Amino acid sequence: RAYNFNAGPAALPLEVLERAQAEFVDFRNTGMSIMEMSHRGAVYESVHNEAQERLLSLLGSPKGYKVLFLQGGASTQFAMLPMNLLGAGQTASYVNTGSWAKKALSEAKLIGEAQVVASSEADKFMKLPDVSNLSLPENSAYVHLTSNETIEGTQFKDFPDTGSVPLIADMSSDIFCKPFDLNQFGMIYAGAQKNLGPSGITVVIAREELVIESPKTIPTMFRYSTHVENNSLYNTPPSFSVYMVNEVLKWIEEQGGLAGVEQKNKKKAELLYNTIDSSGDFYRGCVDVNDRSLMNVTFRLATEELEKQFIKASEQEGFVGLKGHRSVGGLRASIYNAAPYESVKALTDFMNHFQQTNG
Ligand code: PLP
Repeated sequence: RAYNFNAGPAALPLEVLERAQAEFVDFRNTGMSIMEMSHRGAVYESVHNEAQERLLSLLGSPKGYKVLFLQGGASTQFAMLPMNLLGAGQTASYVNTGSWAKKALSEAKLIGEAQVVASSEADKFMKLPDVSNLSLPENSAYVHLTSNETIEGTQFKDFPDTGSVPLIADMSSDIFCKPFDLNQFGMIYAGAQKNLGPSGITVVIAREELVIESPKTIPTMFRYSTHVENNSLYNTPPSFSVYMVNEVLKWIEEQGGLAGVEQKNKKKAELLYNTIDSSGDFYRGCVDVNDRSLMNVTFRLATEELEKQFIKASEQEGFVGLKGHRSVGGLRASIYNAAPYESVKALTDFMNHFQQTNG
C-alpha cells in the first residue's frame, strides 16, 4: 500500500477495503453486488438505515436530528443551505477562515444577504479568528463556519455559542476525527471522501425543524424537505458509497468510537508536528500553533526549489500527495482517520533523512 497523504479522496482503512472486496460480487448471498440491487429493496434499505443509525449512535444518539444522504458534494451544500434557510429579509452570517469558507460565503451571496462576522483574512488565514463573542446581525438566519480548513490547515477546537441562531458547520475535512457535541449545531454537513468513505455521498445531519419544511419555490431536488420526507430515497441514491460509509462507520466503532480515533489522530499529529518543530527551522509549520489541524498538516521549507526537491524525493520513496494545494503552495500531509501511524512514522523518518542530506 502506498503511503497516502492525499487531501481527498483520501486513504480508506485497509480492513474496510478488504471487507468490501470480499462481498463485492455476492452481497449477503443475494447473488448480486450491492451496486446492482434495487434501492427500493429490503437488502439495500437495511444498509442505508444502518448507516444513518450508526452516524447518530457514534454521536451519542442525540434526539431531534435527521440524517440525509445527498449528492453533489459539500459544494452543493454551499448553495442548498442558503436556498433552504436564508429567507427574505434575513442575513446569513459567515465565519471567514480560508478557501472553503470563502466558497460557502460566495454561494450564499448568490442567493441572498450574507455577511462576514469574523475573519482571519488579515492573517492570511494562518490562524483562526476569535469567535467566542460574535456580534450577529439581528435577523441572522444562521451562522456558518468551516470546522477544518483543508487547504490552510487550521481547525477549530471549540465552537461558538450562537444562542437561538442555528450554528451550521462544513465538517468535510474533520468530521468524526474526534468527539463533538452535535447539540451545539443546527446542522453539519460533509462530503464523505475524507473521513467517512468514498466520494459521491454528502452527509447532512440537521435538526428536524430546520429541514422538515423547505420553500416550495426551489426545485424539488434542492429542498431538504424532499429528502427528509423520502428518507434520502427520493431518487436513486449513491448506493455503493452509502454501503462503504456504513463499513467505515463500523470500523470507527471498532477503533473505540470517536474517542478512540481521536487518541490515534492526536498521536499521529503530535509525531508530525514535533518533527517540524524540532527541525531548527528547516521545516516551518504554516499555522499558528494553537489553531493547527489534526487532519491537514501544512508546512514549508526555506525555498520553493527545496520544496520541489522534497516532493520529488518523497514520490521516489513511495509517498503520495504531499504537495500543498496549488492556491497556497508549500507542503501538506493529510492524516485523516484512516492514515496508519506507520505511514506517519515513515514520513517523519523520511523528513529527518531529507533534512540530514539537504540541511
Ligand atoms: N469543504 C471542505 C472543508 C473541503 O475540504 C472540501 C473538499 O475538499 C469541500 C468543502 C468541497 O467538497 P466536495 O468536493 O465534496 O464538493
